[in-house]
Amino acid sequence: MTDDREPVAHPGHRPGASFHEMWRDLLPIGRHTETGGYRRYAWTGADADCRAWFRAQAETRGLGYEEDRNGNQWAWLGDPAAGDAVVTGSHLDSVPDGGAFDGPLGVVSSFAALDELRSRGARPAKPLALVNFGDEEGARFGLACVGSRLSAGQLSAEQAHALRDGDGVSLARAMERAGYDPEAIGPDPERLARIGAFVELHIEQGRALDETAHPVGVASAIWPHGRWRFDFHGEANHAGTTRLEDRRDPMLTYANTVLAARKKARTAGALATFGKVGVEPNGVNAIASLVRGWLDSRAPDEETLAAVVGEIERAAVERGQRDGVEVTVTRESFTPVVEFAHGLRDELARLLGGAPVLPTGAGHDAGILSASVPTAMLFVRNPTGVSHSPAETAAEDDCLAGVTALADVLEGLACH
Ligand SMILES: [Zn+2]
Repeated sequence: MTDDREPVAHPGHRPGASFHEMWRDLLPIGRHTETGGYRRYAWTGADADCRAWFRAQAETRGLGYEEDRNGNQWAWLGDPAAGDAVVTGSHLDSVPDGGAFDGPLGVVSSFAALDELRSRGARPAKPLALVNFGDEEGARFGLACVGSRLSAGQLSAEQAHALRDGDGVSLARAMERAGYDPEAIGPDPERLARIGAFVELHIEQGRALDETAHPVGVASAIWPHGRWRFDFHGEANHAGTTRLEDRRDPMLTYANTVLAARKKARTAGALATFGKVGVEPNGVNAIASLVRGWLDSRAPDEETLAAVVGEIERAAVERGQRDGVEVTVTRESFTPVVEFAHGLRDELARLLGGAPVLPTGAGHDAGILSASVPTAMLFVRNPTGVSHSPAETAAEDDCLAGVTALADVLEGLACH
């Protein structure tokens, strides 16, 4: 039963106690014994364990638990139908060998912030909800933010049904095996219409906060970003008998393009990364016939991003002409800039006493939802800036400062 009239004050509540307990319970789930990284992929056993954990947290707090048509999990304090709800949460899935904080910090902090609110005796005048969005990282099916995209109508049921994992298992089949109904997935405008504000707390994926004296910051925008496939077509030949001047070696063109990408990005204040590459025939003693490299690029604005990618493509084509290599470029995905709602963003900065406001290059469920509801993000300081790696970390005091900040924000938005 949901009790929205009398928030329970926990007499023995110590700041951080509930956070530690939740963090400890979640820590072993989906952790690979050799790498120490997390492999919590959508609709797998580790994912099911994370979901069971979320549900148990909701139920022990007497919150109203529900799963929506896209498998996102919700925990309600107050009447969901009342509208103008204040919602917070993040995701529990991970990239391959991801860190412990990306996603779970936001979900654990949401429950801990609710505990904090109750211990303060705060009385929400609006419904409050905590959410775990499914398949945020897209590690299994290759598309990020599937749960929030489906709900926001940015991914159709047909497109989602067509997604396949590395073993050829369809998203629909995977959902079915996990006990969900893939025929039910699709846009959820009624549910989103109940939300007055969504706030996602997330570990920072960079070092901007570390350069300030602040453990917590407010997001201004998500940089526009995209993925481009570069195909370098050369000619396969013998590495031992083909004279250097007779070669059409696409590896040379590729290598020069990687260097050019770094240079163009640095000059423009953007980011450009070749993090994935495929080679044919992929033999030690063979000159490659084809090198396929994937460029991930991000910039403060769309104009800069287009200019940087255009310059990298030009550099590739020019170098290809010298190497006898043909270059083709295909844009595989693009996400426009997301400006978080200015009113909500400024309100958060005010509630947190002038916390720094900063942009990010990483995509989030909050970015997807921002097209449908007023959305904001809080970042918690990441001293090394490392993310999507087992080395990802945050100081305990900073995590607890994040919980307090989130509680302040929820109290400011829901209780007055
Ligand atoms: Zn994340």
